[in-house]
Amino acid sequence: MEDRVYDCIIIGAGPGGLQAAIYLGRYNRDVLLLDRSGGRTWHARHIENVLTHREISGSEIIERGMEQARRFNVRIEQTLVVSLRKDRLFIVSTADNLYRSRYVIAASGVYDILPPIKNTYRYLGTGYFTCVDCDGYKTTNKRLVVMGDHIEAINIALAMKQMFTKDITFIPYQFSLPDSAEEVLEEEGIRVETVEPVKLIGEPKLKALELKNGERIACDAIMASFGTKLNDGFLIDLSLKKDAVGFKYAVNSQYESSLRGLYIVGPLNTGQDQVVIAAGEGAVAAIDINKRLLEENYAGEEQLLESGSHKS
Ligand SMILES: Cc1cc2nc3c(=O)[nH]c(=O)nc-3n(C[C@H](O)[C@H](O)[C@H](O)COP(=O)(O)OP(=O)(O)OC[C@H]3O[C@@H](n4cnc5c(N)ncnc54)[C@H](O)[C@@H]3O)c2cc1C
Repeated sequence: MEDRVYDCIIIGAGPGGLQAAIYLGRYNRDVLLLDRSGGRTWHARHIENVLTHREISGSEIIERGMEQARRFNVRIEQTLVVSLRKDRLFIVSTADNLYRSRYVIAASGVYDILPPIKNTYRYLGTGYFTCVDCDGYKTTNKRLVVMGDHIEAINIALAMKQMFTKDITFIPYQFSLPDSAEEVLEEEGIRVETVEPVKLIGEPKLKALELKNGERIACDAIMASFGTKLNDGFLIDLSLKKDAVGFKYAVNSQYESSLRGLYIVGPLNTGQDQVVIAAGEGAVAAIDINKRLLEENYAGEEQLLESGSHKS
């Protein structure tokens, strides 16, 4: 275990963790940022909705963010956090080290569940999309396939039609659509394909989706909904309070979890999964942590003054 006690350890160098690190670094706090690399933002190749950037890749946001955080003396280590516990201080464990801190920000994000359809990973972020808010716009007037493994995916097809394109094929992946849903889709002019897709095709751009029977659906983009999983292995043993659904972590308005001193920002909590939102939450958490560090230090000084006055 290192002797040093950090003011704050941040787990995850996506937009949430990096923005928090920059704020805390600029308060001259002692900050350690632990990141295993290759998160969700890193996979976003063409981000167009971040203020002041016409287009920027996720990897560039991360590289620039790390450089900016280092300028304010944030220590960054590339490593996987395996567990977190709290005695008087937080103790963060990686494979080869134990680190201690007064506060922790968990900003480790989520990851997309990809279906067992060949080449989905290859087109992730270019022709295979998983987020309407992020990439819906890129499907404007394109030939689109919407697919998912749950009935709510039809709402995505309906929304995509309203906002972006009328040329939509909907594929219910490994589940049957009730007749009522088929009727709604038919009324909206959305085609339904029930044969299972097996492969994405096209070089370099996506051109078609191949089905199990060998047929192909010509398409320029796929909007898929197979859910996400949380990168929260290190939080499991803490029995933190979850949201009403029991999936994501419950936090207060400053993004503090049910464990005092542990903040959770980004899509691990119930908010929207967006770069600027994760970054905003990181800033709110950092400002709150700094305020509490100030208060704790004042309290310590007051105690010293009080004990001094007793002596005199
Ligand atoms: C293809 C794609 C396109 C997208 N496009 C957009 C877009 O256009 N606009 C937009 O706003 N959003 C977009 N997003 C969503 C955006 O990337 C997320 O909202 C954002 O990543 C959330 O940031 P974050 O900091 O919470 O998490 P992340 O970016 O996922 O960062 C989390 C970091 O924590 C690390 N980590 C995880 N577990 C551990 C651990 N145990 N120990 C150490 N480190 C760990 C990960 O490796 C990662 O580096 C897109 C996402 C994808 C996948």
